[in-house]
Amino acid sequence: MLDTKTILISLLLFLLFPYFSASQNTPSPKVIVIGVDGMGAEGVKRTNTHHIDELLERGSYTMFANAIMPTKSAPNWASLLMGTTPDVHGVTGNGWRRGDVLPQTACEGEKGIHQTIFSQLKQHDPTIRIRVYHDWEGLGKLVETSACTEVVSTKNAKKTLKHTLEAIKKKDFDLLFVHFDHVDHALHFSGFLSKRYLKKVEKADTFIGSIVEELEIANFPEGYIVLVTADHGGNGRTHGGDTLGEIEIPFIVAGTGIPTGLLDEEEVMIYDTAPTIGAFFGVPVQACWKGRNVLEKRLND
Ligand SMILES: [Zn+2]
Repeated sequence: MLDTKTILISLLLFLLFPYFSASQNTPSPKVIVIGVDGMGAEGVKRTNTHHIDELLERGSYTMFANAIMPTKSAPNWASLLMGTTPDVHGVTGNGWRRGDVLPQTACEGEKGIHQTIFSQLKQHDPTIRIRVYHDWEGLGKLVETSACTEVVSTKNAKKTLKHTLEAIKKKDFDLLFVHFDHVDHALHFSGFLSKRYLKKVEKADTFIGSIVEELEIANFPEGYIVLVTADHGGNGRTHGGDTLGEIEIPFIVAGTGIPTGLLDEEEVMIYDTAPTIGAFFGVPVQACWKGRNVLEKRLND
C-alpha cells in the first residue's frame, strides 16, 4: 500500500536518479561485451584501429583502466566477471580449479565458484538470454553455464566472430559475451608491441568493426551497447607482473544512452566491469561486488 512517505521517497529517488529510474521502465538495450585477451592500452594506442576509434568518438572510454595483480588471464577475467578481487574470489592463477577456494556462502555461485554477472543477471531476470563465445578454455571455467542460454568454446577467434554475428543476425540474445584470444597468442609468440602483436590488435579491430556493423544492420528498437575491454597487456613475451604495459587496459563503452567523455576523469578497475554490465540491465548493487558502475556518477550529475 502506498503511503505519503513512500510516495515522497519515490519522488526523491526519481529526482536524484533520473537515468536509472527511467531505465527500469524502458527495455534494456542489447549488450555486447567484447574482451580481447592481452590487448593492453598501449597496443591499441600504437595500432591503426579505425573501428575502435569510431567507438571512442561515439562513447566514453579510458585507456588507463587497471587490471589487477597478478596480471594473468584467469584472475583478471574472474575479477571482471565477478566484480571483485582475487583475495575474495580466490582465482589467483591460471591453474585454479573449481572448489579450490570456497567463496563466502552468500556469494557462492555455480559449483563452488564466486557468483558471476551471469547468474546475477539471471536472478534479476529469469528470461534473459545470455550467450558466451570464447576462444580460451580457461575462460570457460569461469562461466556459470546454468545461467546462460548458450556457451561455446570455439578455440578460434574467427569462429567466435562467426557465432557472434549469427546471434546478432537472429536477434536472439540480451547479453553477448565474446572473448578473443589471438592477440594474447601473438604476445607470447613475438612479444608485447611487436609487429606481429600489433597486427593482431588490428585484426581484433576489424572483428569489432564487423560486430558493430551487424548491430547497425539488425537495428534493435531498444538500441545496443558495446563494451570493449581486455584482461591485461604485456611485458616482453609474458605478463603477470606490475609494469604499466601489463596493467593498463582499454575500457570503452558506446551505444544507446551513453554520452561521450564520461570516463575521462574516472578511475576504472577491471572489477568495475560486472557492476557496469549489471546496471545496463537494472541489476541492483550486489553485496558481493567490490566494484561499481563506472557510468553512474556521471550519468546522474
Ligand atoms: Zn590473458
